[in-house]
Amino acid sequence: MSSPVIEELDAARRFADRWLASLPTRPVGVPADPAALRAALGDLPDDGLPAAGVLDDLAAALEPGLVASGGPRYFGFVTGGTLPVALAADWMVTAADQDAAVAVMSPAAAVVEEVAGRWALDLLGLPTDAAVGFATGAQTANIACLAAARHALLAAAGHDVEADGLAGAPPVTVLVGAAGHATVLQALRLLGFGARHAVRVPADAQGAMLPDALAAALDAAPGPVLVCAQAGQVNTGACDPLDAIADVVRARENAWLHVDGAFGLWAAASPTRRHLVAGADRADSWAVDAHKWLNVPYDSALAVVRDRAALATAMSVSAPYLPLGEQDPSTRTLENSRRARGVPVYAALRTLGRQGVADLVDRCCDLAARAAERFAGHAEVVNDVVLNQVLVRFPGVDVAGLARAVAEDGTCWVGTTVWDGVPALRFSVSNWSTTTADVDLSVDRILALSGRGAAGPGSRGTAR
Ligand SMILES: *Cc1c(COP(=O)(O)O)cnc(C)c1O
Repeated sequence: MSSPVIEELDAARRFADRWLASLPTRPVGVPADPAALRAALGDLPDDGLPAAGVLDDLAAALEPGLVASGGPRYFGFVTGGTLPVALAADWMVTAADQDAAVAVMSPAAAVVEEVAGRWALDLLGLPTDAAVGFATGAQTANIACLAAARHALLAAAGHDVEADGLAGAPPVTVLVGAAGHATVLQALRLLGFGARHAVRVPADAQGAMLPDALAAALDAAPGPVLVCAQAGQVNTGACDPLDAIADVVRARENAWLHVDGAFGLWAAASPTRRHLVAGADRADSWAVDAHKWLNVPYDSALAVVRDRAALATAMSVSAPYLPLGEQDPSTRTLENSRRARGVPVYAALRTLGRQGVADLVDRCCDLAARAAERFAGHAEVVNDVVLNQVLVRFPGVDVAGLARAVAEDGTCWVGTTVWDGVPALRFSVSNWSTTTADVDLSVDRILALSGRGAAGPGSRGTAR
C-alpha cells in the first residue's frame, strides 16, 4: 500500500532524476533573468491547484535559474555537492519530519546525532568527549563556539555573561588571523565583542597566522583572551600552524583557542594531509562544515566544543514546559526546532567509511594540484596548493570579465577574489564527483577564454 503522498514524491523524483542526470553535461551557471523567473512562478491562486501539477510546473519554472553547483565542474566558493546516499537520507529526514531539538520529540534524531557526531570527532582527530552541535553552517557553528568561549572566559573572570551581558564585564582580548573568515568577525559582532575590537594577527603570504606575532600580541594583552585560528583559508587553503599557535595559547591562563575549520579541518581525515592541521586537537572549539567537503546536502555543519558545560550554558533555554538536559541536541545549537541533520551525515560517513572520507579529501587535493599545474605557464598560480584551493592571476586580463565569460560559456563556474590587492580567480575542488577530465576541460576552457591560449602543447612556452 502506498502513502497518500506518492504522486507528489513521484513528481519530486522525476525532477531529481532529470536534474541530477543533467549535472555532468548542462551549462554550469549561466546567468538567469530574475524577472522571467518571477513571471514563471505565477500568482497566488484563490483556489488551490493539484499538487503534482504544481510540482511539475515549479520544476519547470525553477530550472532556468538553477545553478549546477552540485555538479562536477562547479569550482566556485567551497561548495561540495551531495553524495547520492546523503541526498536520499535527507529525503528520509523530510519524510519523517522529526524535530531534532529535544530528545523526547525524536529519540532517533538525538541518538543518530550522538553517533554521527562521535564518528566525526574520530575522523577529525578531536577529543572524543567533546560536545557536538549540528548547526546550519560554519557561520552558526562559529557563533555557537564563540558563545561558549565568551561564557567560559568571563565565568573564569568572575562574570556571568548569560545573566548580566557584557556591560560591566572584564574586557576580553580577541585575536583573529589577518586572513580569518568574514563569518568569524560577524560572530564576534553578534556576541557583543565588536568586529573592530578584534586585533588582527599578521599572517604570512598564504594567509596563515604567524605564531610569533600571536605571542607578541598575547604579551601585550592582559586578562582573558580569545584566539580565533583557522584551518583552510578560503582563498589559498592555508592552515594556520595550529600546533605552534596552541603552544602560545596554552601557555596562557584564561585563554580560549577556537579553530574555524569550515572545510580545512577535514584534512585531518586523510593520512596524507593530516599534517596540515596537526595540533588542531589542542584547541577548545572547532567549527566545521558538513555541507562543503563531506558533500551532504545543505544545510549542515558541526559546532564542536571541548567544554561541554560551557556550550550547554551558552546555548541554554529554560522554560517550565521544556526541561532540557544533556540528551537534548538543542543544548548544543543556536537553533531550537530544526531538521534531523545527523541523518545525512551518518549516511555519508557510514557509506564512505574512514577510507572513503580520506579518498574524497585526497582526490580533491590531487585535482586541485593538477589544475594548478595546468594553469602554470599560462597564468600565475598565486598560492601553495596544499589543499583543495587554487588561486590564479591573469596579468593584464580583466578578471571580473573573465569570470563572466566563464559563466556564460557554461563549461564550468569559478569565483573571483582580491588577494594581496590583486584580483584573482578562485578554483576550488570540493565535489565528490569531479574527475580529472572535468578539471582538464575546465582549466583549458578558462585559459582559452582568458586569451592565454589553451593548451596546444606548442603554446605552453610562449605564454607570459
Ligand atoms: C565557508 C566558510 C565559513 C562559513 O560557512 P557557512 O557554511 O557558509 O556558514 C566560515 N569559515 C570558513 C573558513 C569557510 O570556508
